[in-house]
Amino acid sequence: MNACQPLGRTRHSPLTGVNYTGHISRLMHDIVARVPSLNFIDLDRVLVFARPGRTGADGPYASCHCLTLPDSDPGYFFWRDRQSGRITRRSDWFVTKSPRVAVDGAQIAYLISFAIPRFCDQSLTRSRKRTLYPEGTPAWVAKLDTVVHELYHIDPSGAGLRVFERADGQPSQSIHGPHFFEEVAAMVQHYLASAPDHELLEFLHDDFSGLVARYGGIAGLTFRPFPSYPRRYREVLDPQPAAPEIGEVQVTPLDTCGVATSFCETDLQMRQFFESGTRVAPAIAPPIAA
Ligand SMILES: [Zn+2]
Repeated sequence: MNACQPLGRTRHSPLTGVNYTGHISRLMHDIVARVPSLNFIDLDRVLVFARPGRTGADGPYASCHCLTLPDSDPGYFFWRDRQSGRITRRSDWFVTKSPRVAVDGAQIAYLISFAIPRFCDQSLTRSRKRTLYPEGTPAWVAKLDTVVHELYHIDPSGAGLRVFERADGQPSQSIHGPHFFEEVAAMVQHYLASAPDHELLEFLHDDFSGLVARYGGIAGLTFRPFPSYPRRYREVLDPQPAAPEIGEVQVTPLDTCGVATSFCETDLQMRQFFESGTRVAPAIAPPIAA
């Protein structure tokens, strides 16, 4: 099987291209099979999706979003009078919850998003990560490093993002432990040394314009309405607890209308990505088997 399959043509659309998120998912299956410290990851509970992110603009190449975080403690917003400093009003009591995402009946625990075209244009030669790799490491390995980086954020307990300890044994406040980047680079090199099928990695070799030139376009799985995606949301408590310690002040209702709280396969959509902008991909490649 070719690593980069065409999206296919339809009578109504000239669209062809590479199913970029599909290829990332397929690569992830091979990575977790070959890297012992990532073996625990159940990729049936991980969904890869694409977000827009311009090359050269600030922002991450990719992000790991955990959907298993517990509800927050009840809370409320409050507003002070600028002059007196007195609290004049507050919101309803609310809790913050994780959205529910289920695809074909499988409950998703983690979402991993990739910013396109920014991720495609990532290069080791322009990255601080280059010092973690031997001289002569191909520039595209920066992208493989990012894929492993996001997988490494998944906590073995499945209950959030991985937590690290500081040198004194206390939990680190940083989501990147003291040796996080070195450990990721070591996993990447372990994976490459395991002689993976080069076809699994081929789609990482080209930058965005190179992919367009080679395959005619890039498409990725997205949530609709694009570019929104499942995020933590606030739910007003019903019944409301007693008035908080700040006493009786005016209560401003919290606007939670229109906030999507659960998602399924019908909320997913393939989109074609351009240097700037996207459009719905009318021809969708079948999911790529791992
Ligand atoms: Zn990170």
